Amino acid sequence: MISNLIEPKTNEINLKQNNGTKRTYIKYVYLFNEVDKAEAKVGNWDGVRSLLGGKGANLGDMTRLGVPVPPGFTVSTEACNAYLAAAETFPDGMWEEVLQAVEAIEEMTGKLFGAPQNSLLFSCRSGAKFSMPGMMDTILNIGLNDAVAEGMIARTGDARFVYDLYRRLVQMFGSVVMNVPDEVFEHVITARRIIAGVKTDAELTAEDWQIVVRKFKQIYRTFTSTDFPDDPYEQLKLATEAVFKSWNGKRAVDYRNAAGIAHDLGTAVNIQTMVFGNMGDDSATGVAMSRNASTGEPELEGDFLVNAQGEDVVAGIRITQPLSDLKRLMPELYAEFEQTASKLEKHYRNMQDMEFTIEDGKLWLLQTRDGKRTAQAEVRIAVDMVEEGLISQETAVKRVQPAQVDFFLHPQLDMQATKASKAIAKGLNVSPGAAVGIVAFDADTAERWAKDGRKVIMVRPETKPDDVHGMLAAQGILTSRGGRTSHAALVARQFGKPAIVGVSELEIDLENREMTVGELVIKEGEWLSLDGTQGFVYPGQLPTIVPDFDNPYLLKVLSWADQIRTLGVWANADYPRDALRARQYGAEGIGLCRTEHMFFETDRLPIVQQMIMAKYPSERNEAIDKLLPLQRSDFAGLFRAMDGQPVIIRLLDPPLHEFLPAYDELLTELADLKMRLQHFHTMGEIDQTLAEIAIKRNYLERVQALREANPMLGTRGVRLGILIPELTRMQVRAIFEAACQCTKEGVDVHPEVMIPLTAHVNELHVQQTALEAEARLVMAEQGIEIDYKFGTMIEIPRAALTADEIAGVAQFFSFGTNDLTQTTFGVSRDDAEAGFLLVYQQRGILPENPFATIDASGVGRLMEIAVQYGRQTRPDLEIGICGEHGGDPKSIALCHKLGLNYVSCSPFRVPIARLAAAHAAMAE
Ligand code: PEP
Ligand code: MG
Repeated sequence: MISNLIEPKTNEINLKQNNGTKRTYIKYVYLFNEVDKAEAKVGNWDGVRSLLGGKGANLGDMTRLGVPVPPGFTVSTEACNAYLAAAETFPDGMWEEVLQAVEAIEEMTGKLFGAPQNSLLFSCRSGAKFSMPGMMDTILNIGLNDAVAEGMIARTGDARFVYDLYRRLVQMFGSVVMNVPDEVFEHVITARRIIAGVKTDAELTAEDWQIVVRKFKQIYRTFTSTDFPDDPYEQLKLATEAVFKSWNGKRAVDYRNAAGIAHDLGTAVNIQTMVFGNMGDDSATGVAMSRNASTGEPELEGDFLVNAQGEDVVAGIRITQPLSDLKRLMPELYAEFEQTASKLEKHYRNMQDMEFTIEDGKLWLLQTRDGKRTAQAEVRIAVDMVEEGLISQETAVKRVQPAQVDFFLHPQLDMQATKASKAIAKGLNVSPGAAVGIVAFDADTAERWAKDGRKVIMVRPETKPDDVHGMLAAQGILTSRGGRTSHAALVARQFGKPAIVGVSELEIDLENREMTVGELVIKEGEWLSLDGTQGFVYPGQLPTIVPDFDNPYLLKVLSWADQIRTLGVWANADYPRDALRARQYGAEGIGLCRTEHMFFETDRLPIVQQMIMAKYPSERNEAIDKLLPLQRSDFAGLFRAMDGQPVIIRLLDPPLHEFLPAYDELLTELADLKMRLQHFHTMGEIDQTLAEIAIKRNYLERVQALREANPMLGTRGVRLGILIPELTRMQVRAIFEAACQCTKEGVDVHPEVMIPLTAHVNELHVQQTALEAEARLVMAEQGIEIDYKFGTMIEIPRAALTADEIAGVAQFFSFGTNDLTQTTFGVSRDDAEAGFLLVYQQRGILPENPFATIDASGVGRLMEIAVQYGRQTRPDLEIGICGEHGGDPKSIALCHKLGLNYVSCSPFRVPIARLAAAHAAMAE
């Protein structure tokens, strides 16, 4: 987490007091054209963003760049933190600074705040260091009251326009500052439309809006027991306080928790001169991305409305026009906007998300920030910007996050199924991937059902910040309103939730908990499938498939990552098909083939059981001999798939009872057979049952003999190999026979034989020496020399602590961090995660799940010791990791730091690991 690193009480200023004397205060307020002062004070741009918030810093920066920004000022995050720390009172001098700033703006604009003639109106917006959809508290038209309204009407001659502004102020102020439910205001407008006999707000007259203002003020009084404040300064003060308070509001806290943003940053407040997009047909307002936020294509993309205010566009209440229409309607302004967007992109070297207003034919930029985008857009923009010379390959690699790579491996709806099914609706494909779940019509229901383990699609007319918890819990999001820049779209993209918005044919009846598309009625709790990539909505529960990994931009970014990283990326794969997939994803070797997985296959299990049940060595050897050709072909398949690359094959690891029926199961079956015996009539039936009972009894005896109280700490791993040397010898024979056979075919093989669960070097002396002898024997028989290694897993603390001794025998180490975590913490990997570990994480006793991210100071320390000791004995010792942590970006960073040669993870995590390894190298 990133904290606010600004030293308090740094930037002091002199402020004139009423009596003419000067007092020293902290500077809490910065005009947009004072960004240089802020920068000089805090030293760097990150500090400016901490101090003024992302939005405030950008407004200052844009002003400095010469972009047309309406004048304004920012009240700093320091002021917010001081306000919250002092039981919600403004810090000393802050308000006086605000008043001075207002004066300065009055001078700049030639307008006066609160004066009926030529009045200055302000907007008030929150702006934390990081963009937070959890805080949406915007208030427009601050400064209006009856007298100012009169004055404005006298000046503009447009009473309709002024009363429309006025009602917006009362509405926003009421709902945002005083928590009056917004619906109540909306009902008044709907009622007014009905009375006036019109369909749209645009048709309401000045008188209508005047009546609406009056009604709004009554509502305000009813809900708050106070009058709407007429004093513009009182409005400004309350609005500023509301922004400060919203930092600790539930939705903001929820968002910060979900996005990993620190709670001590505070928010800044941006007070800016109002410009109007609703001054007539020469005015407009809109939002735009400098590139396509879904695909990353280099084209301006956005929505706007002629004769409207910004909130109309963002809220998605009126159907917006695509930005391409602006090119047609106002070609010169479009060209200017295009130039400005390009200037901003070049300056920030990133795709920009901009808000603009055209007032009487004059373009104003209200805001710009780095645009949120899909993973597809992220990689495309990163690659394009490298090619355009805007950023370096390193920056491109840094920009793409490991989690975004995951998108390309995300499930999509099965094409066969979508072809067979019929989409019921189409909307805007704002966040890709497939989502299949049951419909929930509100965030709380979505969250509750998801907690019960159900997959949920959250369906809403539009989403608000209060809905974020439901969106996070849902598989996907569907809304009937809103555009690409709507709240639903932004949040869905950020969290990688498939989402479709603006599905206008969808009628959602929240009261009756159902939605209608044409004739079709879908009730809450029924299944729905979303194709967020295309924007199609399907009824029912469609199957999903994993998409192809062939996005050329992603491949490019990953190839750059490969040039940067020093850590190898291998894969854990047991079968040739997995190995091939791993290779396709960029794996450079197999770090773990768990041979026991092959033993569980239906044609093998009876042979394995025969081996375990054997009473005499000859019987056991007979079973082992039957396994040899099967294993040989398993390994040959792997070698062929990994031609030219190392393949680590681990000898049998699990306790033998895992291959036999469970003890309790056998007891029940035996009891059952005995019962049945009493009901048979023919000798044949009785004989057959007696024979079955004899077999089960044998199994039971063997299972009883193999039973251990702690099997994971019992006869498994190398211990098993020492007790049944014929078995591991057969495996080594199979590996080397396969290697020789493949070599003859022209395949370049590099087998590495891995002995699991070593605790003492003597175990290796016994096992490895015997096995290496077998390997040499096979090579001599075949007359072929294979490039091979014998090595061990480090998964017991004793092995790590005596790594110098172990490296005297082992030619490579591979950290089995699943077991190493289990044995270091002394917790059961099979039980802990469902039990106390959950409580530990909830209560913060452990910061992270140590089975997901390596515990750096404990398990990591043991790894460090093992690396150091191991290489003391054998400087060129190959060391990797094959526990599940090998695909976790944080753990990968640790492995890089420890100087491992490679990480090995599941094929699906290979691309993520490639990128994470590059990030680790760049973080040095
Ligand atoms: C490990 O313990 O980390 C490991 C890779 O082996 P397994 O999970 O098969 O015990
Ligand atoms: Mg293990």
